[in-house]
Amino acid sequence: MRRPPISEQLERARNAGSQLHHFHGGLRLRHNKKISCELPLEATPLPPRLFVPMLQHSGLSAEPAVKPGQQVLKGERIGYFGVKEEMAVHAPTSGTVKLLARRPISHPSGEDGLCVVIEPDGLDQWTQLTPIENWQEADPALLRQRIREAGIVGLGGAVFPTAIKVDDAHLRGIHTLILNGAECEPYISCDEMLMREQPGSIILGARILQRAIGAGRTLIAIEDQMGAVNESLKAAVKEAGADDIDIVKVTTIYPEGGEKQLIQVLTGLEVPSGGRPADLGLLCQNVATATAVANAVVEGKSLIERIVTVTGSGIRQPRNLLARIGTPIENLVDQCGGYTEDAARLILGGPMMGYALTSDSNPVIKAANCILVLSELEIEPPQAEMPCIRCGECVRVCPALLLPQELNWQIRNQQWEEVVDYGLKDCIECGCCDFVCPSHIPLVDWFRYGKAELKSLQIERGKAESARVRFEAREARLAREKQERRQRLEQKKQGLRDQADKKKKLAEAIERVQSRKDGGK
Ligand code: SF4
Ligand code: SF4
Repeated sequence: MRRPPISEQLERARNAGSQLHHFHGGLRLRHNKKISCELPLEATPLPPRLFVPMLQHSGLSAEPAVKPGQQVLKGERIGYFGVKEEMAVHAPTSGTVKLLARRPISHPSGEDGLCVVIEPDGLDQWTQLTPIENWQEADPALLRQRIREAGIVGLGGAVFPTAIKVDDAHLRGIHTLILNGAECEPYISCDEMLMREQPGSIILGARILQRAIGAGRTLIAIEDQMGAVNESLKAAVKEAGADDIDIVKVTTIYPEGGEKQLIQVLTGLEVPSGGRPADLGLLCQNVATATAVANAVVEGKSLIERIVTVTGSGIRQPRNLLARIGTPIENLVDQCGGYTEDAARLILGGPMMGYALTSDSNPVIKAANCILVLSELEIEPPQAEMPCIRCGECVRVCPALLLPQELNWQIRNQQWEEVVDYGLKDCIECGCCDFVCPSHIPLVDWFRYGKAELKSLQIERGKAESARVRFEAREARLAREKQERRQRLEQKKQGLRDQADKKKKLAEAIERVQSRKDGGK
């Protein structure tokens, strides 16, 4: 697709939302959201123990900042990542650190990770909170710093540290903040519930984010089928007198909630491969992230809890719960009446992008937007994988305009340069290609494997490159030292030669004087 000139792109980005567009591919899926929206939001009680993983953001794991036996207060920092405060992890309640242990951590890799295990004292006592009283007048840098200290990450599922995004947005210049409430994956309703029940905190978060990054307006994108949400958000906007915040309804097509897809719907522009929304003067954040920002700034509270949809036909009473990070998933399931007899599969996330968990003792993490339990009936019996028949269905539905069948072939044949050229990194793992493939090829599994391989190759190349740089630096140092030694030796020899010359000249002078004396006698 031909890209319009940059001036036209920027103009269209400035008018985001005034006209709606489409993105390539996608699927119309059954929503299955109503079942979890019938009961109001409820908080989970404190469990006997909380298991707080150190890895809850994209990137490397944080390090524990506490020791077994230590008392902690709610909201106190218990994990850190060097100077990168945006990756901090905080205590979900007050109590005692019982141990630091490797446990299952609800991660797509399925691997264990380090957790801080806290036994609550029941007091639920906050650490010293320092709200920013007058945020409307506060220095935007102070607001961004508070977002950093609160350990806020993108709560739509990507868990990218929000502080990094807002710092970048501030530097690049952003005119429009987009709040993503288009929760397009089936079954997940936590954002819908938040928008219905706490619209004021979303609007507050939007206004704070606007000030923190210097944006002139906010667009909140919601799905066209979220009737009650539209009303509640509009009322909150009116109450706040925020006439620079608009609500836009978008058609529900999966994966419309993907950042690049949503921007395309709102502007008609594609964010190019390797590009970012900031290139168009846009910043995209999830609605729940905006609420976390409001809590961090106005109340001084770090991110220690989130709304989780507990749903699926394997759950007796699906609903949305406000759960502390670190709460075992089984506690949430119990609060929803437990499993049905035919519950068969536990998934963290939705049916398209989620991943299966092997145990419900895994903890709630910042990325946990949904706990989905499918029944026997909903799970297709495993189908034998067949050869690709090149039907092109996967290409037709791919919202990232990729060629999934080609990528699959290249990954299987370890053709890593081609895999990069064909844009594997642009795959958002939406699962549309998997869904339509008549040959039952587990395409997304291959793409995840391919990404992991590329990452380790990059690390290996990085290591080899730094080893080469170190080797060359050592060789240069040795050569320099050798040259310096040679120079010193030469100087020493010259000094000795000069001394010998001086002695010789002195001896000759003495001899001359002596011979003159002898001649005079
Ligand atoms: S949908 Fe499946 S069978 Fe069809 S081209 Fe893609 S990978 Fe091949
Ligand atoms: S999983 Fe990746 S390749 Fe498949 S449809 Fe989604 S973006 Fe395209």
